[in-house]
Amino acid sequence: MDDLVALCKRRGFIFQSHEIYGGLQGLYDYGPLGVELKNNLKQSWWSSMVYDRDDVEGLDASILTHPNVLKYSGHEDTFTDPLVDCKSCGLRFREDQVPEQCKGEELTEPREFNLMFKTNVGPIDDGSSYAYLRPETAQQIFTNFKNIIDSTSRTLPFGIAQIGKAFRNEITPRNFIFRVREFEQMELEFFVNPGSDEEWHEKWVESRKQWWVDQGIESSKISLLNVTGDDLAHYSKSTIDLMYEFPHGLEELEGIANRTDFDLGSHSKNQDELDIKSTITPNNSSNAKLAVKDITTNKLIVPYVIEPSAGVDRGVLAILNEAYTVEKLDDGKERVVLAFKPHLAPIKAAVIPLKKNNNDLVLKAIELKNTLQKLRVGRVVVENTGNIGKNYRKHDEIGTPVCITVDFDTLDKGTVTIRDRDTMQQATMDIKKVPEHFKDLFLS
Ligand code: ATP
Repeated sequence: MDDLVALCKRRGFIFQSHEIYGGLQGLYDYGPLGVELKNNLKQSWWSSMVYDRDDVEGLDASILTHPNVLKYSGHEDTFTDPLVDCKSCGLRFREDQVPEQCKGEELTEPREFNLMFKTNVGPIDDGSSYAYLRPETAQQIFTNFKNIIDSTSRTLPFGIAQIGKAFRNEITPRNFIFRVREFEQMELEFFVNPGSDEEWHEKWVESRKQWWVDQGIESSKISLLNVTGDDLAHYSKSTIDLMYEFPHGLEELEGIANRTDFDLGSHSKNQDELDIKSTITPNNSSNAKLAVKDITTNKLIVPYVIEPSAGVDRGVLAILNEAYTVEKLDDGKERVVLAFKPHLAPIKAAVIPLKKNNNDLVLKAIELKNTLQKLRVGRVVVENTGNIGKNYRKHDEIGTPVCITVDFDTLDKGTVTIRDRDTMQQATMDIKKVPEHFKDLFLS
């Protein structure tokens, strides 16, 4: 973990937020390379969830959330963690995360601490007009259910996907970007006929595990955990967590829950007219009936929902961890490589003029960079520092799949040298063939 954190700072992937003022715990900023990696991961999720399927729509809802949403969802009452104080050092911890040095000390009785951030809305600050920063993206998917059905004419089964920020006032944020107070989630709510929920749950567990493997995570490092007892959320009939071997231990990367009809049932009006199976709070505030008509029986049904919910930041950490490789070279030296899958690499190619500031070489390099950039596969850069060896090392370390060197042969014969990150093999190629090669690498 220490090596990863150091590399992330040195190369501009991830920084501690507000570092110049001493930092604020549990918050991180994504730098020039981090934002590319994160965007690529989100784009890959969106493509597989929305574009590659014919049964999912997208949504981007507000972060500030009406208190009623989080009242009826159960978050106001139950979104809590047990908090204890160490009487010796005065520090506070989540009950299950008391560090070794405080374990022998006297601790206070645990008390429930709500993890939601509350904020004032509008100019009057008397506590009467407030909203929450959403603790999960899911709730606004449920509250938009009718809007989306009405505007798209979807029938079951179908899903709604959303990527966005979520906020939790974690008692002890830790392990770099693993447990933070502001993070991003990629969530799908997949609505199904009651009775087909268990089958869909299994399908989604398989499909989500495969997606992480496709992002470069070794299959053997992901295990499935059947969540039971107190760990099972109040809304869930069954939850399977995808557990990944993070640098600090085996922990949750994504949870796939069968939320039954709890959420739509909880947010619906006229609940008595609907055959809601879950235990819900009576709702007199909602103005929408969140149900669909069964075309064969003409009866209203409240769909069950399967929710694959993944953390973007935990995904980035897992992917960095998988990609991080230290290789021994023939000359006895070492090289660090981030062996990202090409679609996730922050920079797709570096175009390097052999001699720094040689006008003809630099112009040719810029021209090639612009041609490749127009293919819209991601960021391409020109490295005009004149030190080929150092540039290769740098781009290995930030995971750039190819380096393309523009030299005097490029001017005389129209050829460039292409170097592969993983094999370090170099090949001479006609400059006209580079775009095709590039497309093969990133678009196939
Ligand atoms: P944990 O048990 O680790 O606190 P959780 O079960 O509360 O997680 P969920 O409510 O299932 O998490 O949230 C779905 C996903 O959101 C998690 O799988 C994780 O990837 C991500 N996530 C949740 N809390 C955090 C956090 N504090 N920091 C970063 N990512 C988070």
